[in-house]
Amino acid sequence: MADSQTNTEMGLDSSEMQRYARHLTLPEVGVEGQKRLKTGSVLMIGAGGLGSPAAMYLAAAGVGRLGIVDPDIVEASNLQRQLLYSTADIGRTKLEVATERIGHLNPHVQVTGYAERFDRSNAERIAQDYDLILDGTDNFATRYLSNDVAVFQKKPNIYGSIFRFEGQCSVFAPHLGGPCYRCMFPEPPEPGLVPSCAEGGVLGVLPGIVGSLQAMEAIKILLREGESLSGRLLHFDAMRAKFREFKLKRDPDCAVCGASPTITEPVDYDQFCGGTGSDEAAPAETEIDVTELAGLLSAEGFKPTLLDVREPFEVGIAAIDGSIRIPLGELAGRHKELSRDRVIFVHCKSGVRSAQAAELLRGNGFSDVRNVAGGIDAWAAEVEPDMARY
Ligand code: ZN
Repeated sequence: MADSQTNTEMGLDSSEMQRYARHLTLPEVGVEGQKRLKTGSVLMIGAGGLGSPAAMYLAAAGVGRLGIVDPDIVEASNLQRQLLYSTADIGRTKLEVATERIGHLNPHVQVTGYAERFDRSNAERIAQDYDLILDGTDNFATRYLSNDVAVFQKKPNIYGSIFRFEGQCSVFAPHLGGPCYRCMFPEPPEPGLVPSCAEGGVLGVLPGIVGSLQAMEAIKILLREGESLSGRLLHFDAMRAKFREFKLKRDPDCAVCGASPTITEPVDYDQFCGGTGSDEAAPAETEIDVTELAGLLSAEGFKPTLLDVREPFEVGIAAIDGSIRIPLGELAGRHKELSRDRVIFVHCKSGVRSAQAAELLRGNGFSDVRNVAGGIDAWAAEVEPDMARY
């Protein structure tokens, strides 16, 4: 009893000493470091492609407390890269499966799940209980939100991002002298200019590499060992098998971490990012749903323009008959190809890029432009069920 009492005071019992043996023999970790990991905590935003390897490695390494924010359920299309989940888990909540999996991996780890989307209403409350934030969501609204909250609460934000065959990782920690995400990118891109992971695709191994880099940075920070990626952006090109590094500088005029910050609490990220699938920002009369569109397109005598602003490879997968195809990135230079006398219905995959295209056209004097809500994805679901979906 006395022994176990002593061990408890030390923070590691005999089963933990065995489990972490390969850590304990490293002078940079040792018992002291392992206790730091055990008393450490990481908030994981998202338990997907990046969150899967990060959560598993953090748990295996003995980080004592993991928070996971993820409202999603496991879908078949997740399994190509999200290693927390198995085929049998399709339809279950990610939180339930992740908690179970981590519990099997290391019962010494305490997992707290948050079945909600990380947003301005809950971000500060959730983040305050953790030492650092690991952003595994890869969307702009959450990227800016987690950056800002981490700056407000003076905790490191471990950033990871993936797209197709490339990924990047950094640590944003202005309180330790480095820059924040806004020092590099003060404002988010225009809605729809950046295709989402679902639209652009991602090679399955890539999130494993970037998520593991994020876990490594988290562990180094908790151990207080090594050189973190604060002030550096590490870029990985999978196709060329090349890592490159970019220096990042703090912006003294940064709106959130600068000398006179103008952003001191979470702002409305969805509205300025537009990329979260929310339709709330668009006035109803500028949109049309797919069933109404199908009716109009088949009406006698009505000749609208159906504009498809997706990339050529997407058009190759599926397209609506009779559409004019101009990728969003070319629209500014090619809108003269479109008739100003016709109603224009513009669509993309899910409605985000096409909303941007509609704005661009209205700004160039096209008077009647309507965004097809839900894009070709909704069309395939509701109008043309034989159409390929991606
Ligand atoms: Zn900054």
